[in-house]
Amino acid sequence: MSSPCCLAKMRCFGKRKRKFVERTGVTSTLLIRRLQCCKCKKIHHELPDMLVPYKRHCSETVQNIIDDRNVEDTEILCETPTIIRIKQWFSNLSERFLARLQHRRARFPLPGDLKIESMEQYRKQGSWLKNLVWELANHNLWVQPVPSLTPG
Ligand SMILES: [Zn+2]
Repeated sequence: MSSPCCLAKMRCFGKRKRKFVERTGVTSTLLIRRLQCCKCKKIHHELPDMLVPYKRHCSETVQNIIDDRNVEDTEILCETPTIIRIKQWFSNLSERFLARLQHRRARFPLPGDLKIESMEQYRKQGSWLKNLVWELANHNLWVQPVPSLTPG
């Protein structure tokens, strides 16, 4: 894995704990590696693909909430205020995510990249939220949250 800042090698710089809520509602803890860019010394946190930056719930739950998939095997085990907050978060940032995806694909094109016209089009992929996190967080393009007293 090369660094998102300089595409240089990275070295492991320690670990930190990251709590998250699984789709079943169980809270788990993951050990996340802190990695340092060998070129500019910037610290990055490894982001496993089941997580969304700054979100307590796993990627699958967050995507089910945004997609309104509260049915049988994708039942959402979250409290209503959390559901509302996550929906608002996404609808507020949707246009910025789209702009950053388009920017990423223009600046760092990968084989197979297609032009993205809208978030609706992007969300037709199965695990679109995982892809979104991967595409943006790995290039330091994730939209940072506005500091708030109620972590999502
Ligand atoms: Zn760097």
